[in-house]
Order: sequence, then C-alpha cells, then structure tokens
Amino acid sequence: MKTIVIGAGIAGLAAARTLKKQGYEVHIFDRHDQSRGASVQNFGMFCPIGLHPSVKTLAERSGRIWQEILTAEKVYHRNCGLLIVATRAEELAVLKEFHDNAEKLGYYCEILSKQQTLERSPIVNPDNLLGALFSPSEFNIDPRTAMPALAVAVKKLGCVIHWNSEVKAIKENRITLADGTSFTADRIVVAAGYEFQKFYPDLHAELKMQHCKLQMMRTAALSEDMGPMLAGGFSLLHYPVFKDCPSLPQLQKTLESKHPKTLQYGIHALLSQHAKGELCMGDSHQYGYSDTDSSTEINEIILNELQRMVSITLKPVETWNGYYGRSFSNNSSTFKVGNSIDIFFPNGGIGMTLSFGLAEEYFS
Ligand SMILES: Cc1cc2nc3c(=O)[nH]c(=O)nc-3n(C[C@H](O)[C@H](O)[C@H](O)COP(=O)(O)OP(=O)(O)OC[C@H]3O[C@@H](n4cnc5c(N)ncnc54)[C@H](O)[C@@H]3O)c2cc1C
Repeated sequence: MKTIVIGAGIAGLAAARTLKKQGYEVHIFDRHDQSRGASVQNFGMFCPIGLHPSVKTLAERSGRIWQEILTAEKVYHRNCGLLIVATRAEELAVLKEFHDNAEKLGYYCEILSKQQTLERSPIVNPDNLLGALFSPSEFNIDPRTAMPALAVAVKKLGCVIHWNSEVKAIKENRITLADGTSFTADRIVVAAGYEFQKFYPDLHAELKMQHCKLQMMRTAALSEDMGPMLAGGFSLLHYPVFKDCPSLPQLQKTLESKHPKTLQYGIHALLSQHAKGELCMGDSHQYGYSDTDSSTEINEIILNELQRMVSITLKPVETWNGYYGRSFSNNSSTFKVGNSIDIFFPNGGIGMTLSFGLAEEYFS
C-alpha cells in the first residue's frame, strides 16, 4: 500500500513516520528544499501545560517520540522545564490555585517562592518577582535543527522525501506537481498547514479557518544557559488548564484595565533558547492577518513584558512573523475527504507539542 503525504512540516513528517511504521510505502512532497513553514518559525517549546487537559496523554506520547529522535540524531534539546513567572499578585493567586488541584488533574508541578525562583533561573528579574510555577515536563528544542533531524530520521525509516516539489492538484488518488508530473497512491494525507485551503476551499470555509499571524524575535547568542524556559502572566489567560482558577476573572480584569493593547494583540511573553544560545522571544496573535509586515509597536510591547520578567537586556537582532491556521468551528486536527484522502493539520498553535501523538492516534 502506498501513501502520499503533502507537506514536510511537523504534521507531515509525524504522519509519515506513523504510516511507515504501519507498513505503508510513504512518499512525502514539499514545495521547498526543507521544512520552512510554521514548524521552523516557532519557539521550539514542547509545552503540554499550554494545552487542554484532554490531550495531556497524547502530548506525553509526543514527548517520548521527540526525545527518542532528538537523542538518536544527537540534536540540541534542553530538558529544562518551564517557569511561569508571577509579577502581579493576581498571577500568583492563579498559579497557586492551579497548583492546589494539579495532582488531581495529573500534573506534576511546584510553586516556588521568589528566592526559589531566583535559584532556579539565572535570568529572572528580582524587581517585580513574586514567585513562579515550575513544570518539569516541558523541554526546549531549536526547530531549525530539530526539523532537519526529523527529516533524516523519517528517511532512515524508509520514507522518500521529494523536496522542491509543489503539489498543484489532487484528484481522487492522484497528485499533480507544478512541473506536470503526477503520482498515484492508495492514500493521500494533506499536511500542508493552513494551505489546504488551496485544495479544499469549501472545507476551509466550513471550518471557519483563520490565519493567525505571530510576531517573533531572536537575540544574539548568550554564553550562558537560560535555565528553564519562561512564560509570563498573559499566558494564564490563554492556556485552558487555568480556566477554572477562581482568581482568573480578576487577573483578566486587571490586565484589561492596565494593558488593553497587550490583550488586543494577543501577546504572551515567552522565552526559549535556541541551539547557539540565542533567546527566542515572542509572541503576538492576530487572527485574520496574512500580511508580512512586522509592527514595531507590537514588538515593543512584547519586549516590555519580557523585560519585566528578566534582568538581562533583551536586544533583538532578528525579527520574523510566523503563521498557522485555526478552525473556529471545530477542534479536531484530522478531516476525511472522500475514502482515501485525509487532511491533517495541528489546529492552532499546538503542533510541535502534539503532532506525533495526534498522528499515532489517528493513523495507527
Ligand atoms: C510563531 C509560532 C510559534 C509557535 N510556537 C510553538 C511552540 O513553541 N510549541 C508548539 O507546540 N507549537 C508552536 N507553534 C505551532 C506549530 O509551529 C504549528 O502547529 C506546526 O508547526 C504546524 O505544522 P504543519 O506541519 O501543519 O505546518 P507547516 O510547518 O507550515 O508545514 C506545512 C508544509 O507544507 C508545505 N506545503 C504547503 N503547500 C504545499 C504544496 N502545495 N505542495 C507541497 N508542499 C506544500 C510547506 O512548504 C510546509 O513545509 C508555533 C507556531 C508559530 C507560527
């Protein structure tokens, strides 16, 4: 049995890996010379605490697969955990409330005092610091080195990757490339990110798909290890695990009244570290935007919020925008089109954490 996978981002490669293990002959087609979409534009945060508790087990499965591949391919990764830093009283209240219930929900985490937080992180700013929640299950990759390594791992399993091969049309069991060549297979998986719109515009509209534009920045290499990855209080409003914390509405109110623009631009303050020591900084979330401009105002707000958290001076030497798609009518990440075609896209900003688990659940 032969499968064609369109797209060599994390979704396509995760699907290819699972299908190959099922015994399929797998051919992957990507229009670029390597993975260049959302899968290399991101922080590289493997971050189960940012996801809905219902997918926690799938995330853990993904984590085990990432670790296996990163270790086998000897690729940069840091098993450093995540510190969610509280610099406002309401943030600390939410973190403590979550921590009180965490064990029941199956999460292992610790509440740290100000002093314990400073002992855990060499870069946290003591000035506004009230404490933090430490979650050890999170780890840090550099997507620019992890994605090529994943492509190598998938090839070692026996999958064939056709780079520089843009798929122009899909009809029943046949794909046609930009140069007119066509290929047939028993099964086709469309893992082209939000660009499945080009092939299935009606489904795209039915799912109320929106593009999300995220602004990102990188510093020059730091000589020291930053310790755990860092997240600030704005993430508490977005991560579903915190939604039942009684103090969350008060935090929302405080942030709405004091930082309306930060909320309007969907800003989180997140910091990870990439392979050469650079700090990866972000991000904003603007739905319905596909322009390529970077707003200086948005980057300044992100930097101010990050600078509230860390004591080193953050100087961006590189900025870029990342894009992913999210359905506003359906949370699923897999959709069937006819008998032999599947669309597989990690719905929202979850792909680096969840794709392996989703692929194993769906394609096994
Ligand atoms: C800025 C940013 C930060 C993020 N941070 C995180 C994070 O820290 N942790 C996390 O878990 N998730 C994060 N995410 C989400 C995650 O990156 C995405 O969910 C994931 O990368 C999506 O993977 P994908 O394979 O569906 O899409 P993509 O990576 O976009 O891959 C799609 C591939 O399809 C190819 N393609 C498209 N059309 C065609 C065609 N017609 N023919 C051939 N090839 C085609 C493209 O070239 C591309 O390689 C972030 C996303 C962004 C944008």
